[in-house]
Amino acid sequence: MDLLVKNGRVIDPARKIDAVTDIVIRDGKIQLIGAATVPGIPVFEATGLVVAPGFFDIHVHLREPGTEEAETIASGGSAAAAGGFTAVAAMPNTKPPNDNPSITHYILSEARRSSPARVFPIGAITKEQKGETLAEIGEMFEAGIVAISDDGKPVMDSRLFRRALEYALMFDMPVIQHCEDLYLSNGGVMHEGVYSTRLGLKGIPSAAEETMVSRDLILAEMTGSKYHAAHLSTRQAVAMVREAKARRLRVTAEVTPHHFTLTDAAVAGYDTNAKMNPPLRSADDVAAVVEGISDGTIDVIASDHAPHHINLKMLEFDSAPFGITGVETAVGLALTKLQLSMTRLIELFSINPQKIMKVAPWGLFEGSNGDLTVLDLNRNWTFDVNQSRSRSRNSPFHGWSMKGKAVGTIVGGKVVYQDRA
Ligand SMILES: [Zn+2]
Ligand SMILES: [Zn+2]
Repeated sequence: MDLLVKNGRVIDPARKIDAVTDIVIRDGKIQLIGAATVPGIPVFEATGLVVAPGFFDIHVHLREPGTEEAETIASGGSAAAAGGFTAVAAMPNTKPPNDNPSITHYILSEARRSSPARVFPIGAITKEQKGETLAEIGEMFEAGIVAISDDGKPVMDSRLFRRALEYALMFDMPVIQHCEDLYLSNGGVMHEGVYSTRLGLKGIPSAAEETMVSRDLILAEMTGSKYHAAHLSTRQAVAMVREAKARRLRVTAEVTPHHFTLTDAAVAGYDTNAKMNPPLRSADDVAAVVEGISDGTIDVIASDHAPHHINLKMLEFDSAPFGITGVETAVGLALTKLQLSMTRLIELFSINPQKIMKVAPWGLFEGSNGDLTVLDLNRNWTFDVNQSRSRSRNSPFHGWSMKGKAVGTIVGGKVVYQDRA
């Protein structure tokens, strides 16, 4: 695919580029960055817009195979593109889970066939995500996984988790943990605090996350493996990662937009779109998450896009499943709620996700894949979940007004999403 991206502010922190200029894409690859007039190829007019290396959401649940009524690879990929993401990494908790290379192959071929955004599969750590024996990690690596995780569930068995870290080290793959001590969370449905008491709902203490992060950091140090903490939500968890980084452990961490925008107060109306795991925490935890983003403790903003069919989210709070959709609101929320430089924002959404997943890098350099995210920093818009490209509607951000939006998503030189004001 050929494309001329005209007159945008092109920014790539990894290549120290920040200039108003053009980008020429030929046959899906960047051919030239600089003032250009190329007759006869399609033009993406980017005057007044920011043009960045394609954004990469490393934490999404696509639900295919197995729960296609909630999301497919095609619908999730389309929603991701509409949120500005040129690539996503898909968590393995499908039905059946991605714990063997035949599922990995299926996801990759279906993504090539139907998803506008690139899809990088994450393999399970354990067979059927049961936490008992290791999955076919080496075979899945050969098939194309970029990381392993049992996300949705933690690996409770410390010995098994040590073995997973050691095994992943042979491929230099990150091990992504959903940090939750199940004995401490013990069937809780929201953050344990004043609101859980007032609402009469069973709480999940911050300690459920923090004890798991603490154990994992000890094992990551012992093994020297790459450890990635998914969706951190508490002050102490962020502090432990900060301290581990200071000691040069190979540790990275992500947070979600809901954990920097919402507190457990959002549960007050028993809104099941405020039910997620880890749960929405206190205002002090939100402040700590934002500090972690600002000071570099947090490497990545990822959505934890978790679509659920409306019938499930209409259950009462105790019975409804955890999780919300997020790929279409993540960038807008970050632009609206965080005071970040463009450099830092692009690191969080593109550069660091690429590094952590060790994918062949893309960016603003000649020969790169023509994968670009175009932002309008001044666009005022309101999220309407009924217009979502996801098959699911479980977002707490319906009706939210935001300033700043992804208005163009370009994959391999093809414009897969565009929103002209
Ligand atoms: Zn999780
Ligand atoms: Zn998740």
